[in-house]
Amino acid sequence: MDADTRRAWVDIDLGALQHNARTMATRAGRPILPMVKADAYGLGAVAVARALEPLDVWGFGIAAVREGEELRAAGIRRPILVFTPLLPSEFGEVRRLGLTPTFGDAAAIRQWVESGGGAWHLAIDTGMNRAGVPWREVEAIADAVRAHPPEGAFTHFHSAEHNDGSLAGQQQRFRDALQLLAAPIPLLHAENSSGIERQSPSPWSFARPGVFLYGVGGDVGAAVAPRPVASLRARIVELRTIEDGDTVSYSATYRAVGRRRIATLACGYADGYRRAFSNRGVALVRGTRVPVAGVITMDMTMLDVSDVACDVGDVATLIGGDGDELLDVNDAARLAALSPYELLVGLRLRVPRRYTGGAA
Ligand SMILES: *Cc1c(COP(=O)(O)O)cnc(C)c1O
Repeated sequence: MDADTRRAWVDIDLGALQHNARTMATRAGRPILPMVKADAYGLGAVAVARALEPLDVWGFGIAAVREGEELRAAGIRRPILVFTPLLPSEFGEVRRLGLTPTFGDAAAIRQWVESGGGAWHLAIDTGMNRAGVPWREVEAIADAVRAHPPEGAFTHFHSAEHNDGSLAGQQQRFRDALQLLAAPIPLLHAENSSGIERQSPSPWSFARPGVFLYGVGGDVGAAVAPRPVASLRARIVELRTIEDGDTVSYSATYRAVGRRRIATLACGYADGYRRAFSNRGVALVRGTRVPVAGVITMDMTMLDVSDVACDVGDVATLIGGDGDELLDVNDAARLAALSPYELLVGLRLRVPRRYTGGAA
């Protein structure tokens, strides 16, 4: 047993990650720019970028300069786009690291150019109202854009996972804005994972999948489905039998009906197994589904294992596959009414990661 699997850990299947990346690129009919922000959605940006770089990805997408610093230090040489607006105080660092900023504001574009310039992409907001120049107001930045042409321009969909027509609407706004700008912009990009699932092939230069790469599909007509990538596992460290009426964990929210067998796992919310799973989560033990008993604590989680023979040292799967059973990130998130994104991103607090596969 290696040190990392003595207690609780996340298994990350880099072969499945690469498969999912190929699925996205094939469906888009274009290169992809994998989004590796937030430490690759909690799975480790350096390992993920290294596994994906040999697939001829166009570049990588991040949110913060420090994320780019980590990737450059690890030897990642492809373009890295920073999608969260940057402050002028960060421009020097951005340039030193060879990162590509995104702007949606004439003043920021001018400051970037005056401080030394370099490739940048224009963010056009078509309805998200988060970052970028509003599509109705592109004329206000047209002079700055024509004077300092960007390498690319992009927008971001707010509801690509819903069949509500908004993707087509936002895309039309994007086209209208580009036409108004009347500047030659070599690269255009728009789709997130659900956008790629929804439309094929892509009408743009490259696509920007995130969550699909990490094993979370959007159920968008199920034209393509990702392979599971991350599994959260923990060992049983104690077993006890409790009597009718006994309670488990803080606040005594689980009360035994009859005699029950309770297993304690060395994994709690400090490991990313969220408190929302209290009395709602399910684990796989020896290929059988068993319920969480009581409130998840910081360091331990209890399971009702009355129906399965198991021992101290056995591995329980809280997210992922065990034998023929699979509890994927979407299934697990649904049990606790969590966002699958938040669940993934949280799997990094204390647990070590164990990577498998990934020779491209
Ligand atoms: C996070 C992000 C994506 C990827 O979104 P997913 O839904 O995870 O595929 C794409 N583009 C931008 C600008 C993003 O911030």
